Amino acid sequence: MTEVGEAHVLVSPFPAQGHVPPMLKLAEILSHAGLHVTFVNTDNIHRRFLASSPALQRLAGLPRFRFRTIPDGLPEDHPRPFLQFLDLEESLRTRSREHYRELLVPTGKDPDGWPPVTCAVADGILRLASEVAAEMEIPVIFVRTSGACAVWAYLCIPDLIKGGEIPFPEEEEEKEEDGLDETIRGVPGMEGFLRRRDLPSFCRNAKSTSDRSLQFVTNANANVRRGRGLILNTFEALEGPVLSHIRSAIPISYALGPLHLLSRTFDDCGADAPLSSNSASLWQEDRSCLKWLDSQPQRSVVYISFGSVTMMSRDELMEFWHGLVDSGKRFLWVVRPDLAEGKIEEAIQEDLEKETKERGCLVGWAPQEEVLAHPAVACFLTHSGWNSTLESVAAGVPMICWPFFADQPVNSRFVGDVWRFGVDMKDKRGRSVVERMVREVMEGERAEELRRSAGEMAELARRSVGEGGSSYRDFENLVKDIKAMSR
Ligand code: UDP
Repeated sequence: MTEVGEAHVLVSPFPAQGHVPPMLKLAEILSHAGLHVTFVNTDNIHRRFLASSPALQRLAGLPRFRFRTIPDGLPEDHPRPFLQFLDLEESLRTRSREHYRELLVPTGKDPDGWPPVTCAVADGILRLASEVAAEMEIPVIFVRTSGACAVWAYLCIPDLIKGGEIPFPEEEEEKEEDGLDETIRGVPGMEGFLRRRDLPSFCRNAKSTSDRSLQFVTNANANVRRGRGLILNTFEALEGPVLSHIRSAIPISYALGPLHLLSRTFDDCGADAPLSSNSASLWQEDRSCLKWLDSQPQRSVVYISFGSVTMMSRDELMEFWHGLVDSGKRFLWVVRPDLAEGKIEEAIQEDLEKETKERGCLVGWAPQEEVLAHPAVACFLTHSGWNSTLESVAAGVPMICWPFFADQPVNSRFVGDVWRFGVDMKDKRGRSVVERMVREVMEGERAEELRRSAGEMAELARRSVGEGGSSYRDFENLVKDIKAMSR
């Protein structure tokens, strides 16, 4: 029988901010659990990561952890199309196959004397990994970096298509608003609750069943169903009922979230280490905002970030800006240089900076986990990306959800109407809505209620990753199952 130490996993994320850091945290704890871990980045992502991530040094020091890189197949000077992820995925699948195969089953001797790869842990949307692993007969465990609520909606999409629920019937287009409030029948457990407007965004945009995004999701579903298991970044106390539905389709599903907390349980530094040592960002963080937060009263600041890829029109941005100013609250706003489509004219930029100086702070990229943990932060105005949602849950910070695309509309519906630690401003984006919702989450009884529910869920999140907690136990099972594969 092979020694337990001979298990070796090849971990491959999809190359984007919402995917690399959580999978890196997973890879790190797998290494702490005694497995050899090779983490595959694309050259492009790895260069950015090298330039910006404080986590890199710590990872490089782990005895059974190493990075390997592959090209993503796009030209060097290509503006990486994070929004056009279908093209990036296709390029990886077709142009990086040989490189990936060589990492999975090398033709020569391993330079570090490591054992052969015994299991691939791959992003569920990365067909490159699933196809090559199947070809080489290496078992794969998939990871979906979305929440269980969105993953379950994704898994039901083929049934929604079969049942004629998507694409949405054409006659509804004229009376679009009513049409989007129609509830969906084909997502078990969410019947009569999930509306068309809450479905992943491409369902709304798809005009026919051959829509490229629908096809992509159908492929990703088929992928994860073929794996030896599915890893999700969530926890039982948050998404237990939805996880049961997922397990009816994929019996071996591990709920390990919040991964950024679980990784701290296993980290040698322990849960009390400064959060900065845990950061794994692909952008350079501007830490000056932490000083600014230090000088603000407790629970007085709205933190605003729309994640790594969301873009908005200039009109949207200005409408949002006015709502924020009208609310009269202090704010810390992450404005990535590419946040607004088109150029924001200098006058507007100046005006924005002048207004901001009085009671706000703008940064290009924030140390988000630390910001959310700061006592001055009262609420999080978020695009409802899953990592941001989970980080807010873990910090006990109520949310104002302004979802844009992909899984975000599902997440915001759950935050507002199932978990009830935030409000969902989906599809209602005028300045008066922004102002009203900011006040709702910051003032009076409603604000207290939201903060109480957020605090309770944060406590459950902490328990789930502690010894004996549900995520901790699922992680132990995962390690046991991976080790069993190497025998
Ligand atoms: N993030 C950050 N600083 C920022 C904005 C975002 O560190 O200024 C991180 C955030 O903590 C989260 C990730 O970027 O981990 C965004 O992932 P999410 O799934 O929320 O959204 P996406 O970027 O995939 O749309």
